Amino acid sequence: MKFAGKVAVVTGGSRDIGRAVCVKLASEGASVVVNYNSNQADADETVAAVEAAGGKAVAVKADVTKPADVDALIAATRDAFGNEIHILVNNAGGLVARKTLEEMDEEFFNFVMQLNATSTFLACKAAVPLMKEGAAIVNLSSLAGRDGGGGGAIAYATAKGAVMTMTRGLAKELGPKGIRVNALAPGMIATTFHDKFTPDAARENVANSTPLRRQGKAEETADLVAYLASDEASFITGANVDINGGLAFS
Ligand code: NAP
Repeated sequence: MKFAGKVAVVTGGSRDIGRAVCVKLASEGASVVVNYNSNQADADETVAAVEAAGGKAVAVKADVTKPADVDALIAATRDAFGNEIHILVNNAGGLVARKTLEEMDEEFFNFVMQLNATSTFLACKAAVPLMKEGAAIVNLSSLAGRDGGGGGAIAYATAKGAVMTMTRGLAKELGPKGIRVNALAPGMIATTFHDKFTPDAARENVANSTPLRRQGKAEETADLVAYLASDEASFITGANVDINGGLAFS
């Protein structure tokens, strides 16, 4: 039980990678705040899955693009589990839509940045005052942040690149306080994200050009989040760790 007595906040914990992270952290003893934006039923399912694994969780609605909501999320965490946050997982994010440069307007670009990058900044700003030595932040970046993304993913890839850079900057600033900050850069993980935005044929192509010949699973990313959040990773900070089945960078 490596997270016994620890409190974790997982943004976008209502399904897929976020849900797998909540269940994994709880299965190792953490009390978990399951953040969601619109799907309360999904968030309740995550809470039930955590409880079935023997853990404690509460679902908290907050739109991570809104500073007041993020502050309320951290206030709700205090109410539920006390004044210390040990783990923050900035998982909420998404592609929103596939748009080329020609199709994108400034409003769309800014929203995708807000959802993936500004949200990470806001959650860190709100949570860090409750973090002490030994705490850890884990951010969800993406392979897209390294290679520019697939078709119509310019804004998303740019935002995830910003998450990688923010991870390094935060690691430098918070390292002297004993707070570690790392990120994952997943390749194609089979979730609702790709169900919505990536045709089956394109998913098959990516899987076939991946050395391990398949898409990843949410649970595999959750295992890496848990490792980076744990004391086993006590000398790792500022890292952007690839989890992509060996997919070559284009
Ligand atoms: P997903 O299935 O689309 O789930 C996204 C989660 O984020 C949901 O729980 C959703 O909750 C929440 N969310 C969305 N907008 C939000 C907002 N404004 N405020 C709070 N929560 C919000 O995505 P996923 O595939 O699990 O991906 C999770 C993370 O990994 C994302 O950051 C994604 O960019 C990153 N990632 C995924 C892949 C992949 O292949 N799947 C690859 C690289 C990186 P509601 O439904 O309640 O809105």
